[in-house]
Amino acid sequence: MMNPGQHNPSHAAFELFTQAQTFKEVQHHFSELCKHLEINPKDYKTFYRTLKDKLNSWKAKAMWTKFDKRASHPDYQQGKVCAKNKCLVLGAGPCGLRTAIELSLLGAQVVVIEKRETFSRNNVLHLWPYTIIDLRNLRNLCAKKFYGKFCTGALDHVSIRQLQLILLKVALLLGVEVHSGVEYQGLVEPTGENGWMAQIKPASHPVSSYQFDVFISAAGGSLRPEGFKSKELRGKLAIGITANFVNRHTAAEAQVAEISGVARIYNQKFFQDLHTQTGIDLENIVYYKDDTHYFVMTAKKKSLLKKGVIKQDCADAEDLLARSNVDYDALCQYAHDAADFSTGGKLPDLEFAQNHQGKKDVAMFDFTCMHRAENASMVRERKGKKLLIALVGDCLMEPFWPLGTGIARGFLAAFDTAWMVRSWGLGTPHLKILAERESVYQLLSQTTPENTSKNYATYSINPKTRYQRVNLTIQAHQVQNLYDTDKGG
Ligand code: FAD
Repeated sequence: MMNPGQHNPSHAAFELFTQAQTFKEVQHHFSELCKHLEINPKDYKTFYRTLKDKLNSWKAKAMWTKFDKRASHPDYQQGKVCAKNKCLVLGAGPCGLRTAIELSLLGAQVVVIEKRETFSRNNVLHLWPYTIIDLRNLRNLCAKKFYGKFCTGALDHVSIRQLQLILLKVALLLGVEVHSGVEYQGLVEPTGENGWMAQIKPASHPVSSYQFDVFISAAGGSLRPEGFKSKELRGKLAIGITANFVNRHTAAEAQVAEISGVARIYNQKFFQDLHTQTGIDLENIVYYKDDTHYFVMTAKKKSLLKKGVIKQDCADAEDLLARSNVDYDALCQYAHDAADFSTGGKLPDLEFAQNHQGKKDVAMFDFTCMHRAENASMVRERKGKKLLIALVGDCLMEPFWPLGTGIARGFLAAFDTAWMVRSWGLGTPHLKILAERESVYQLLSQTTPENTSKNYATYSINPKTRYQRVNLTIQAHQVQNLYDTDKGG
């Protein structure tokens, strides 16, 4: 039988776009699709409408119906509410892309910049029930076609890489511009007729002349823009290890049960047996079967020293886990043996998957010290031009991976931020906007799957649909310090 895509080059290009499995492939097939349909992806105001008119395969039509349903939510006011806003989103991680999607549904022009050229993280994200529903809805928009396996296993999870691919495809179809290989280096203050811009590398890239009034930093834990302070939360020493093994998708592998999270207190015998038989001493372990066989575990320092993974004991966690103090081969062996034991030796030929450097995909992380931004937002004004700045994702609050807080709290913050930008688009006074955003931010670190609303179907960017109690505990006069202006100075 003939593939329907074969009749029509644009249908074929669309098919390739939906199936693309790398950042580069998605961008390439998207640009081919636009060429075939003769649509300029920079025409963000009309892009989706034109795409919808021109691309009418049955698959595309089914998608448009779902997109339209989503876009008709009253919060977006038919994409008119932010029609005058221009947003720059820093980082094409899951939270940057998720925020970009919401901002474009509000009608804003959205440009995302990402310094990397590839999505390479095999690691798997644990999802809270609401994120499963959110991603299922996105899947209904198109992700099912993009990633049929999503959320069909015994446990609900998705690899970071696959999640980025799903969100990237949705964002592009909605008219978001996404640039890879573009590194943010700082903000450029308004001069003369020009508004706020970004200093980027390469400096000659067209994005360096893009002027915006909303700047979202979703650059992960390592970059927090100027003006934002962070708090350090130091707990007891916690050493995380992640490892990915090749999934050959054989029947034998399919049989092996996933481990949604075994903590020491709940299964003392398992951890004792592991310790006695292998010398490996863990606090907890998680195993998910996805593109790879993914394991995340928290290991005890003493056993890492004993097994030669950590060479020298040090009081400071940073020195302890410094690259020079870790024996990579011993770490691989440790992770391999923990994976083998916890799956009862049933995963045949445990072979490490490769990371982006072509090495065995195993890594050790320090969860002893976590950072969180003191504030989620601020407004900067120079020469009469205001810029709303907000943080989302790991940049706002670093997560503890085994609990899945990265995506769960990351997406909550993405929605809260979109709600704030909506108020910005509506012309609400900036101190009022900041006060509301900071009040809502205070709720974020307390959120759990239990204390957030269970009525997932009604979740929207309005915080009241998600948090049980939204009290505006912070008043406008208390956020005066988040308004940085040259007026009257
Ligand atoms: P990220 O996913 O970190 O995305 C930030 C993006 O910003 C990156 O793509 C980065 O390249 C880009 N960026 C940074 N600086 C600049 C700049 N100057 N210019 C342009 N772009 C920039 N969570 C888990 O739950 N389990 C795991 O096993 C796990 N493993 C991880 C492994 C690694 C190596 C990392 C970095 C994170 C891991 N996480 C894990 C965390 C998880 O990925 C995040 O919680 C989740 O992706 C949401 O993050 P985000 O979108 O806020 O930031």
